Amino acid sequence: MYVMILAAPGSGKGTQGKVLAASLGIPQVSTGDLLRAAVKAGTPLGTQAKGYIDQGLLVPDELVVELIREILDSASGRNGVLMDGFPRTVAQAEAVDRILAGKQARVDHVALLEVDEQELVQRLLARAAKEGRSDDNLESIQQRLRVFHQQTEPLIAYYERQGVVRRVQGSGDIDA
Ligand code: ADP
Repeated sequence: MYVMILAAPGSGKGTQGKVLAASLGIPQVSTGDLLRAAVKAGTPLGTQAKGYIDQGLLVPDELVVELIREILDSASGRNGVLMDGFPRTVAQAEAVDRILAGKQARVDHVALLEVDEQELVQRLLARAAKEGRSDDNLESIQQRLRVFHQQTEPLIAYYERQGVVRRVQGSGDIDA
């Protein structure tokens, strides 16, 4: 089963993705976490990605598509994956469709987490104080929200055409 969580920064992709992946028995793959790990480890990918992440911009499609391709080709991704934070552009969505088609598979479900924009900013600023992520400052947060509206929101229509979108209320209690 291939499931994606599509949502703005701060909406709880990581939190809800963890719960959903565990209940489905498939691995959770967060491109954001993988990229941050690459930055920390100082790999060539990390070195290329760092500037984009810190500015709140998307890392180039080729780099993240390669990351996902490796996971989908690995033993752990063979029975399904929950992707959190990927795809984020139509080009990424088209690339993953092609990779899955090569495995006689497809995107089964896309969960669209909906959270009010005001609450997103509040949550991200609260997380900045707690976790100290280099991109959780007001300037980068606003840039990430702009990028979401411009580059990622068009994916909603893309997946609605495939009939796989479910809208989920992302505010309120985590368990609910
Ligand atoms: P958030 O949704 O709060 O921004 P993420 O961990 O999902 O957190 O992403 C953090 C950053 O990592 C993004 O701003 C971007 O620079 C990079 N990134 C993560 N996933 C992708 C992706 N699929 N394509 C391009 N860049 C990505």
